[in-house]
Amino acid sequence: MSVRTRVAPSPTGDPHVGTAYMALFNLVLARSQGGRFVLRIEDTDQERSSPAFETGIMDALRWAGLDWDEGPDVGGEFGPYRQSERLAIYRQHAEELVASGGAFRCFCTKERLDALRRSQQANRETPRYDGLCRGLEPTQSRDRAANGEAYVVRLDVPESGTCRFADGIRGDIEIPWRQVDMQVLVKSDGFPTYHLAAVVDDHLMGITHILRGEEWLNSMPKHQLIYDRLGWSPPAHYHLPLLRNPDGSKVSKRRNPTGLDYYRRSGYLPEALCNYLALMGWSMPDEGEIFSVEEMTAAFDLDRLSTGGPVFDLTKLAWMNGQYIRAMDPGQFMDRVADWAVNRENLTPLVPLVQERTQRLADLLPQVDYLLGDRTAVDESDFVHKRLDRDDCKRVVDHAKRRLDGLTEWDRDSLRDALVALADAMGIKVRDFLAPLFVAVAGRTVALPLFDSMAYLGRDVVRSRLMDALAVLGGTGKKQAKRLERDYANLTDPGT
Ligand code: GLU
Repeated sequence: MSVRTRVAPSPTGDPHVGTAYMALFNLVLARSQGGRFVLRIEDTDQERSSPAFETGIMDALRWAGLDWDEGPDVGGEFGPYRQSERLAIYRQHAEELVASGGAFRCFCTKERLDALRRSQQANRETPRYDGLCRGLEPTQSRDRAANGEAYVVRLDVPESGTCRFADGIRGDIEIPWRQVDMQVLVKSDGFPTYHLAAVVDDHLMGITHILRGEEWLNSMPKHQLIYDRLGWSPPAHYHLPLLRNPDGSKVSKRRNPTGLDYYRRSGYLPEALCNYLALMGWSMPDEGEIFSVEEMTAAFDLDRLSTGGPVFDLTKLAWMNGQYIRAMDPGQFMDRVADWAVNRENLTPLVPLVQERTQRLADLLPQVDYLLGDRTAVDESDFVHKRLDRDDCKRVVDHAKRRLDGLTEWDRDSLRDALVALADAMGIKVRDFLAPLFVAVAGRTVALPLFDSMAYLGRDVVRSRLMDALAVLGGTGKKQAKRLERDYANLTDPGT
């Protein structure tokens, strides 16, 4: 049987470094066995998914060199590869599960479930569905559904005993069934949840090996039940350790840049990033640190996957990037600089901003330095302002960051509308409000228009500059962070 692997991102946010990490390992495994690597878009969360995020993820994976053999854009014989186009398939399997008693319709109202959760929490029990609707007679359940009563489909989970399954990295694992919730498989809007859709697709798409983040390990009992009840044998599973910050916490955009676009914009080379990500879960037989995806593929062996909590350390990544840069000959180096930013495509959006402000061509570079490269380092004195003290500046930067995190569209007008509304809600004149943001984003108070600059830089770079500005302004301890969160939530128009 030929090896088939997949990466299955949900298009609910900007492309994440964790997606590239998983894509890399799945791609390398498939290629090392002459198999195929699939991209599947898991867009069953209708509210949070967007085509713009999907395109962003695909562009970023391609930039990283992690190309797929089958996927929504390139097709393949197991398509469609976008879950929102496979709803009839999930419906059919959900019906099969209900008919065989492997799952049941649940008519419980939100009020009942909330009350149940509250009482379980009060008794210090793990919140879990109590199985009320499991007892419904099949005819009763069918009739209520036929009468138009809203329901979800839940997985029927054994009351007692233990689920045993094998993980390729961690060996045999046991989880008592009583810790496993009767997972919703189909929501009341008829959309499947991740658990049903992923299992059905992995089976129907012929996936033989699943390498994914360890956060899914606890879902294995549910997935195993679904495989069993549909009469399928599961693919081999390998749960890779999650990327961690040097302090051991999980990488998250609240702490460090996690967006692939940040790395792309900041001039990291995709081959250096892939090399670094490879080291997070794998080591070469000779323990060498610098290697290409092709070299990794040639040497790949599932037994060398590591279990340790890999530390995603920006300093080490920057060092590695430097190794790659210095290994280039001058011609390659020039080509890479041009590919990165100094090219027509990248400069085109800047022309309307700079041309009218330029007398001599030499005026150009000082205007766009913070757009093409890093902005200059700032310190607290850069934020000094007639009408805003340090805490005001901090509040502005913090609230802007929160507001922008909640913004789905990232273009000049959306940025302007959101930030002007925020300034109003905070009772600060727009002009004053923008001053600390100019410093945070551009490194100075006089620069090209702020909203255009932010739109150009992209969400990840802007977020990391705002975070840096907060740190420069003295950072936010736990207490202050709580207060800022409360302040923000109390604004009349936080816009979220
Ligand atoms: N859509 C899931 C995610 O975003 C995929 C998890 C899996 O690989 O099964 O992480």
